[in-house]
Amino acid sequence: MTIIRFHGGCHQIGMSCVEIDTKKSKILLDCGMNPSDNRLPSINPSDMDAVVVSHAHLDHCGAVPYFNFKKIYCTVPTVDLMYIVWKDISKLSKTYGEKDIKQAMESIETLNYREEKKITKDISMKLYDAGHILGSSSIYLDVDGKKVLYTGDINEIETKTLRPADTDIDEIDTLIIESTYGSPMDIKPARKVLEKQLVDEISKTIEKGGKVIIPVFAVGRAQEIMAIISNYMRSGLLKNVPVYVDGSLIHATGVYLSYSEWLNPKIRNGLENRINPFGDVKKANRQIIDKEDSCIVISTSGMVQGGPVLQYLKLLKDPKNKIILTGYQAEDTLGRQLEEGAKEITPFKNKLPINGEVVKIEFSAHGDYNSLIRYLKKIPKPKKVFVMHGERYQALSLAMTIWKNFKIPSTAPTVGSVLPLF
Ligand SMILES: [Zn+2]
Ligand SMILES: [Zn+2]
Repeated sequence: MTIIRFHGGCHQIGMSCVEIDTKKSKILLDCGMNPSDNRLPSINPSDMDAVVVSHAHLDHCGAVPYFNFKKIYCTVPTVDLMYIVWKDISKLSKTYGEKDIKQAMESIETLNYREEKKITKDISMKLYDAGHILGSSSIYLDVDGKKVLYTGDINEIETKTLRPADTDIDEIDTLIIESTYGSPMDIKPARKVLEKQLVDEISKTIEKGGKVIIPVFAVGRAQEIMAIISNYMRSGLLKNVPVYVDGSLIHATGVYLSYSEWLNPKIRNGLENRINPFGDVKKANRQIIDKEDSCIVISTSGMVQGGPVLQYLKLLKDPKNKIILTGYQAEDTLGRQLEEGAKEITPFKNKLPINGEVVKIEFSAHGDYNSLIRYLKKIPKPKKVFVMHGERYQALSLAMTIWKNFKIPSTAPTVGSVLPLF
């Protein structure tokens, strides 16, 4: 019997790690790190024939260099983005160093979407476009004739930078699906509405002669926000003010540009017509920004916890300026304190009064509840479903919906669960 072991990413978002254990082989799907406390999954790497990484987010790839795996499979752009993520982790947490990163890089074998590859005696695989960030994939396995789809993080709608997730997938016996927005309460405004909100908020501040700070994660959201701003500026719907960037998003955007054929074809067309999809941005520093009049500063980290964005928070002493939070803000982060209306925060040693406006517009790289349901309707009907990568309520709620509405046996396993895969 083939079994599945859940090492992480159950009833939570973070540390995704699933083991497929057949009579002849053992592989891992993702090997992430917990973003809030840098925890790693407990596994024995020497047991594993291979690890397949769905995409270059920390909660899916962050632990890989720590374990010295024999073989790592992922898409080509994922390698370049993972390198940036791993470097950031080694700098911030010291979980592993340059030698471990180099060793991991040397064990990677890359695949294109839909390219078939035999990875162990009884497992072959294919990667499908997951529509979530550059190079992100859903992992499709043939385990001795039976088929498994591990969705990874998915987005079923088209965004400025990416194509929607692939759904023209062959038959599926077992589905392992994410549930970030797995409850019927998780219905988000349409993309266009969010874009308009962002542009309106920026415009209001610019009209007053203020500056806008936008904290972002380096990979995914940063490029999406840059593409939206540059689009609206080109069309004249947003006033042309200088846009500055800071942090590892600069490298990540370079990677996006160098793999334009993996992105939304509109990006490629733009480039052919000499349009930089991410706009004419400049590298920021404190002195430049202080001297500027109205401008936009986009910088890491997304939850305002570390990263160069901290240096720009002083701008919020001035009520003319504004910070726009673009994603989920975890507990115990400065981002969360700002979101909850803190009148002062302590980014460094001294207290900083917050007089500027704080706005939150959530640009997720995940499909919302309706999008997950559409995805489930589009792919072939599986015989069994495991729900992971969601907070407990979301995971349980999606599992229940799949039972009730799709009539498919479905569970949201907890960490440490060992279950029959088929
Ligand atoms: Zn992700
Ligand atoms: Zn994730």
